[in-house]
Amino acid sequence: MSELPAIAHHIDGVAVPSADRATFDSVDPTTRRPWARVSLGSTADVNAAVSAARRAFDDGPWPRATPAERGEVLHSFADLLISHAEELALLDTLDMGRPLTQTRDRDVARGAANLRFFADDARLAMDESMPGHARHHVYTRYEPTGVVAAIAPWNFPLMQETWKIAPALAYGNTVVLKPAEQSPASATRLAELAAQAGLPRGVFNVVQGFGAGGAGAALVAHPQVDLITFTGETRTGESIMRSAARGVRAVSLELGGKGASIVFEDADLEQAVAVVADAAFSNAGQVCLAGTRLLVQRSVYAEVVHRLVSAAETMRLGDPRDSGTQIGPLASEGHHAKVTGCLDAAIGEGATRLTGGDRHGWWVAPTVLDGMKSSMRICREEVFGPVVTVQSFDTDQEGVRLANDTDYGLSAMVFTTDLGRAHRISGRLRAGNVWVNCFWVRDLRSPFGGMGHSGIGREGGRHSREFFTEAKSIVMDIGE
Ligand code: NAP
Repeated sequence: MSELPAIAHHIDGVAVPSADRATFDSVDPTTRRPWARVSLGSTADVNAAVSAARRAFDDGPWPRATPAERGEVLHSFADLLISHAEELALLDTLDMGRPLTQTRDRDVARGAANLRFFADDARLAMDESMPGHARHHVYTRYEPTGVVAAIAPWNFPLMQETWKIAPALAYGNTVVLKPAEQSPASATRLAELAAQAGLPRGVFNVVQGFGAGGAGAALVAHPQVDLITFTGETRTGESIMRSAARGVRAVSLELGGKGASIVFEDADLEQAVAVVADAAFSNAGQVCLAGTRLLVQRSVYAEVVHRLVSAAETMRLGDPRDSGTQIGPLASEGHHAKVTGCLDAAIGEGATRLTGGDRHGWWVAPTVLDGMKSSMRICREEVFGPVVTVQSFDTDQEGVRLANDTDYGLSAMVFTTDLGRAHRISGRLRAGNVWVNCFWVRDLRSPFGGMGHSGIGREGGRHSREFFTEAKSIVMDIGE
């Protein structure tokens, strides 16, 4: 049997195996067979990575470089992402089954955009001065904070990881990234490309391994980590917040979602259903922002549900490396078991399956469930699979009440051609991100994050700048 490709940690500028040589396998969800052997990080590897990041922060050139100098390196890094797009995209596809056309054309492109955006933002950001004093000069500096621990999920590996490391690096910090165990490959390659772009050693480190009880837990508990940026499940976020409390470290939590798509009777139904289907089933529903609860005004309920079922049934499931594939397999055996378990429980609680639910390997066909009661688990818990529930409502007030009847508050979508209604409803929804007649569109200047169980803090634009820096006020007596 041929050797599997090896994926190492990246610590202090070089690829290294685990101190104890332990490994685990990354499994390709398409074949359900291991495709790579990955170094399994332990506390010793985390300690080595944090020490490297600490040295690079305390004594190295990166935090002391000008934003323009850092920006040059980050733009070169972005160029390398683009010139290695096919290779990077395939790594994510092999790890977690997202179609290659999407990992390449959307995720790598967005990864490069993340790096370029924050490189430029850091260059344009200015320290502030407060004029108007007779003999004092008062100003504020925004300084890099220190060593950042970045913990990422597996659903858009490269995109999520660059969303964290780009602002951390652009504002002069050093980083230790722990990718999800299901999606290790692109993270190590990112670190190699960053080094090739000219990032000094120790500035960006990657430790592979498990979260709870493993490298992830050791990283967030490390006393020399100054700041934690986490994306993942709400329960993991709670545990990370407890770790962050020790030493009073700042933490940003981007957590789960249970987004509602609200279709009003005046909507352009053809356009609305196309967006609703994309928002529910894209990436096999493994999207924090997914519109998993479809709420439809009663007069157009039958038509919208009929259109959605047709859209679900025409989506092409297949090998994620084939260019025509829209939906790949779920990312892992454990996740497949979770999603199918949620579906079975919903049917057990009385839901009606209008289409989908068929399983083949780790694929689950896009599924539409009717006969909902808001108390059902499927209406309350994040499934993170290609499953949408449908409910009807009569008035605007009832639509908003149903949409807000969740502990989460990450995303919501509104479909209407009435501009006034679009503004009124958007204002009443308890969600960090509201899209009207669209989905996916992002402006990296706008804050991104969730309310309630969907997280704390916002990242994006000046919010990332504030999170990844320490503000320092300086008051200087300059004499008469
Ligand atoms: P997860 O199980 O919470 O894991 C996320 C990361 O945390 C992984 O790297 C994981 O490592 C690590 N981890 C787990 N327990 C840890 C601990 N005690 N200490 C430190 N690290 C720990 O989430 P996931 O299943 O990967 O991702 C799916 C979730 O992410 C969904 O809830 C989704 O909604 C959410 N998400 C949110 C956003 C957003 O922007 N709000 C974006 C994308 C995804 P291992 O995997 O190696 O165990």
